[in-house]
Amino acid sequence: MSCGKIDLRCRICRLSSGRTQVVPGKGSCSSRIVFVGEAPGKDEDVRGEPFVGRAGKILDEALADAGVGRGEVYITNLVKCRPPKNRRPRKDEIVACSGYLSSELKDLRPTVVCALGQTVAKSLFGESERMKELVGKAIPKQMGGLKVMAVIAYHPAACLYRRSNIKAFRNSIQRAVVIAKRQ
Ligand code: URA
Repeated sequence: MSCGKIDLRCRICRLSSGRTQVVPGKGSCSSRIVFVGEAPGKDEDVRGEPFVGRAGKILDEALADAGVGRGEVYITNLVKCRPPKNRRPRKDEIVACSGYLSSELKDLRPTVVCALGQTVAKSLFGESERMKELVGKAIPKQMGGLKVMAVIAYHPAACLYRRSNIKAFRNSIQRAVVIAKRQ
């Protein structure tokens, strides 16, 4: 299920004109851990669910490796509509969509927010170092009045074009899960 309030007919930003459908986050609304990606891709745009394509398979495998199923956590994106040609979401689009992510987070009250990739780490947590320096880090942050642990992971698609990232990716996911279980 999806948490928070989302307008499935949203027209706030330009991404609405190219989408097939809005892709809300999905998972358990009692999850204390949230994984945030960039934006839906082609498969997600068709199916209406986040991370259901090749990158999603990498994420599912890492979650399984960490001992949790996709249904036990919450998975969402910075923006809920697919950008044209899978380009990165632009800053104004991220800002336009931020109310939906805030609404999800308000419902979930997570203790751990795992940023998948550099765009997300920068946008949510202002972290602008290179990913090499950031991956696997757990950094205490304030987010909309909530105290959360920010865990930074590679974007799963980065494991598709560089298989050597997979170990660090899995370790980051595992770290996020372990911290969430502790809290
Ligand atoms: N990449 C993302 O960032 N999010 C998705 O939902 C799928 C691929």
